[in-house]
Amino acid sequence: MPARSAPLKELPYVVVSARGAARLKNGHVWVYRSDVKAGDGIAPGSLVGVRDEKKKFLGTALYSSSSQIAIRMLSARPVEDLSALLRQRIQEAIAYRERIVAGTDAYRVVFSEADFLPGLIVDRYNAVLSLQVLTQAMDAEPVRETVLKVLQESLNPAGIVERVDPRIRELENLPPRESGLRLGEKTKTVFTMNGVKFHFDGLEGQKTGAFLDQRENYAAAARYAHGNALDVFCYQGGFGLHLAPRCSSVTGVDSSRAALEVADQNATLNGREIEWIEGNAFDLLKDYSASKQQYDTIVLDPPAFAKSKQKLETALRGYKELNLRALKMLRPGGVLVTCSCSYHVGASALLEVITESARDVHRTVRLLENRGQGLDHPTLLNVPETAYLKCLIFNVSN
Ligand code: SAH
Repeated sequence: MPARSAPLKELPYVVVSARGAARLKNGHVWVYRSDVKAGDGIAPGSLVGVRDEKKKFLGTALYSSSSQIAIRMLSARPVEDLSALLRQRIQEAIAYRERIVAGTDAYRVVFSEADFLPGLIVDRYNAVLSLQVLTQAMDAEPVRETVLKVLQESLNPAGIVERVDPRIRELENLPPRESGLRLGEKTKTVFTMNGVKFHFDGLEGQKTGAFLDQRENYAAAARYAHGNALDVFCYQGGFGLHLAPRCSSVTGVDSSRAALEVADQNATLNGREIEWIEGNAFDLLKDYSASKQQYDTIVLDPPAFAKSKQKLETALRGYKELNLRALKMLRPGGVLVTCSCSYHVGASALLEVITESARDVHRTVRLLENRGQGLDHPTLLNVPETAYLKCLIFNVSN
């Protein structure tokens, strides 16, 4: 992108350090506060021009006055009409999904940076949309209005709910706000993926309701599943319900009673019999493996153990313990589906955990599939943070 000379007179400017500028040149879209040289007095959530210390124009960005990520780039060009740009990007995100998503009425419509809409997440569950606002800029009233309007016009939902993460609002120094219905009337629905039905309640549950990023992995796991299956960290039954048609029995384990109640309703909705067990997965696997319980298919899909780099070692110990016990409990010919949604635990680190675990329990393991998040959660090259989910499928031969 050739440099332009100060085309954005009306916008405030942020000056970034050489390191920040280099980061942007490498294709990343964030600049950390420590790399902002001048930006004092800029209103929270502003659209800003970005320059390096030699006054070279680097692009247009959204500014946060409080997050460690001070700048999220929107464009390498000047942006004169933010509302028009948002409209165009949302429409492009919708069109992208039309090409890559099939066999479901539930998918991520907008995935923040990966759709060039930093700080905005939109999920579709049949006729209900679920919205998450992650930054000061996306929280601004005119931005909210545009987003709701474009979503309404393009997808004609029966309801748009907003899910608020109070921790994020705190980090962004935004006033508290309640989750709730923002447009239309409907907050609940039933959605379908891979032929399996799920209840959705936009105002309950974790994340935005379901783990849409696993949709393609559910179908992949089902291809290999057989015999007695154990779905550990089952939440509302995403994997278990997909495995059920292929397996003689399915047991789901989770520590959340509320999640298991929905899981049970989902089983009924699909005419499946699944045993749901409320408990701590670590304790349960320990007991099961001590009592030599055996399975043919085991899914491990724990919550993110490594929320920060500092937690990496503890996280790896957690993954090791789970995978070790699962490998021990699998019959020859068994299938292990092991997932990690910790960005800080890379695919190679997770593979290493399985390699070590297999060696420790003397099992021979073959990698069937090395998978990531669904295509509706695109990965933006040069922004590694947009790739976070790992799903590895193994065959355990002896
Ligand atoms: N596999 C699920 C998503 C799992 S999310 C799906 O595809 O929909 C992680 C789940 O782990 C959450 O439901 C959470 O309640 C559960 N969980 C967290 N800690 C746990 C623990 N120690 N034991 C059992 N479940 C736990």
